[in-house]
Amino acid sequence: MELKSFLSSPQSIRHKLMVIGLTTSGLVILLFLMASGLLAREFFSAKQAMQHELLSQAKMIAENSSAAVVFDNRSEARKILSALNSSPVIVEAVISLPDNEVFAWFVRENFQDNSRILKDKILSDSGFGNGDLTVDSDIVVDGRHVGTLRIGATMKPVYDRLLVFGFIVILLTVAGLAVSFYLLRQLQRSITGPLLDLTDMMERVSTTENYSLRASIETQDEVGLLTSRFNEMLEKIQLHDHAMEKELQERQCAEERLDYIAHYDPVTTLPNRNFFNVRLHQLSVQAREQGVRSALMFIDLDNFKIINDNLGHQVGDLVLKAVAARLRLMLRLTDVISRIGGDEFAILLAGLPASEHAGIVAEKISHSLAGPFQIGEHEIYAHASIGIAICPEDATDPMDLLRLADTAMYYAKENGRNTYRFFKPEMHGKAQQRMTMETGLRHALENGEFEVYYQPKYHLLRKEIIGAEALLRWRRPGVGMIGPLDFIPIAEETGLIVAIGEWVLNQACEQIAFLNTRTRTSIHIAVNLSGRQFKEENLVEQVHSAIIKAGIFPHQLELEITESTLVDTSPATLAKLEALREMGINISIDDFGTGYSSMSYLKKMPISTLKIDREFIKDLPGDTDDAAITSAIIAMARSLNLDIVAEGVETQQQVDFLRAHGCEVIQGYLISPPVPAKQFCEMLKIEQQQFA
Ligand code: C2E
Ligand code: CA
Ligand code: CA
Repeated sequence: MELKSFLSSPQSIRHKLMVIGLTTSGLVILLFLMASGLLAREFFSAKQAMQHELLSQAKMIAENSSAAVVFDNRSEARKILSALNSSPVIVEAVISLPDNEVFAWFVRENFQDNSRILKDKILSDSGFGNGDLTVDSDIVVDGRHVGTLRIGATMKPVYDRLLVFGFIVILLTVAGLAVSFYLLRQLQRSITGPLLDLTDMMERVSTTENYSLRASIETQDEVGLLTSRFNEMLEKIQLHDHAMEKELQERQCAEERLDYIAHYDPVTTLPNRNFFNVRLHQLSVQAREQGVRSALMFIDLDNFKIINDNLGHQVGDLVLKAVAARLRLMLRLTDVISRIGGDEFAILLAGLPASEHAGIVAEKISHSLAGPFQIGEHEIYAHASIGIAICPEDATDPMDLLRLADTAMYYAKENGRNTYRFFKPEMHGKAQQRMTMETGLRHALENGEFEVYYQPKYHLLRKEIIGAEALLRWRRPGVGMIGPLDFIPIAEETGLIVAIGEWVLNQACEQIAFLNTRTRTSIHIAVNLSGRQFKEENLVEQVHSAIIKAGIFPHQLELEITESTLVDTSPATLAKLEALREMGINISIDDFGTGYSSMSYLKKMPISTLKIDREFIKDLPGDTDDAAITSAIIAMARSLNLDIVAEGVETQQQVDFLRAHGCEVIQGYLISPPVPAKQFCEMLKIEQQQFA
């Protein structure tokens, strides 16, 4: 128990080892020394006692035999010597004469053959055999030395006793060694036990990777220290492990997010183009190998640009989301729908029995998108044009299929939008045309291929031209004159409209300046402004610098903006309009009646003129609906104190109707089609001469 408490005491192992080592080895040495001392003592005292005994015996025998020596009675002498037989340790005795002659001797019977014949040795030395004892006694008669008695004794009994004693010593030493072994073993156990436990624990930790395990600390020594350090290390690993795990989780999350982003569109949560391409590829393989028919639909929203430009990206995103949700409802689980571009969606209809089925789906989609989307306070229409390519009939290569469906989609757009078209080989030409038009348009400005035409506006009461609308024309090399309806949408899509629009603005201002010097300064010219241009940060500065550069009066410039541009009643839009208005520039609403016509924004906007769209004028005065709308627009404009211009006036009846309802300014083929600047100037000059 005490040993145990010593072993588990906080002393160092070095100390414990030293204590136990010194104790045990000291014990053994002590034991051994003690035993050896005792043995030596026993040996010497036994030897002394024997010597003593032998001497007295020798003396006695010497006395007894003196007569025999003197009388040379050798047999008597031998007889006397044989009395020594009673002393068991005495093995031989010799009586020698002074001249060393052996007079008589005695040898114990069982020693005779030992050849330790004393009488022979007497001549050479004074002893016999190792370890044996000899004593001499002089034989003296009347003070005369007549001989010597030498007795030889064996010390065997002493040796035997000592042997037993030695055996006991060895036994004790072995016992001491055993004790020391036991002690050391205990010590070793006290060290290796915890070490083995620790090793076990390490193995468990490494196999289970459970870093929350702790080794129990049983001693305060180096092993205890090692265990506590090991536990500390485990704690650190555990903390590190936690941190790693967290990091790993975060990384995994990030990877999942990246994977999601790589395959899904964040706005609509639909699969993106990458995902779609993979599926398209699979279907094209199926089509080639098994003849499975599928359809690829390319869907493009018709007026998304306008929504985005005017209501902002946030509303735009919500519209895309809502469109995606409606499209999803139209499809089966096996179909794949994906957003593959800004306002472009693609749908894969797999395993179609007949290609006409794709038409039915397209119709369903058109129908589902026909209803308005309620996005916040806005009621928005998002029609789509759909192009369809059939695999394997039209193509089997994924990229070809996409291209063909895209071509069919453009064809649908050109055919009045909000419709669908199957791809037909003859469409290739059209698509090609569009592509070359886009590249042509990019160089048209620098190559000076644009020209601005002017269409007069005529005042019915004053009976004179009061101004004109600037209308862009593109004189395309090898093609001829192209009207804006054919290229303005492409210019808007590509963003080229910004630069082109600025050029038109400068041209118009220069034209005003020119007319000011040649005709009269009351002429004003209207420039069409696309929604995209209106979004430009520096629009106001652009307009301002155009006026300054040309040196004209601001009121001579008018900007025509479509209703869709103005539905965005954001502070930024209002600020721009107000800045322009403050500069003295007139703003008119183009194509009025076709868009979001609402009294509320008309009141809010700093505008000066409404232009009634050609659509309403066209069938006047016969069409009662158009007549009602036109008269209502005129009445509304007057109540809001706005000027009014009727577009596309071609007949006298139309003029009569308009005049009767209070519209004073007209524009249309009846007066003149759009004409080159020079010709417009001529018209003004002629008019001036008439008045002169
Ligand atoms: P818009 O602003 O409505 O221009 C009036 C269009 O009606 C012109 O077509 C004009 O030629 C046509 N028109 C005028 N009188 C009559 C008529 O009596 N009968 C018929 N049927 N049509 C008539 P145009 O020149 O082809 O321009 C088409 C559209 O292109 C314009 O419509 C305008 O929105 C846009 N546009 C023209 N020039 C520019 C421009 O410089 N910038 C921008 N952003 N758009 C422009
Ligand atoms: Ca216009
Ligand atoms: Ca118009």
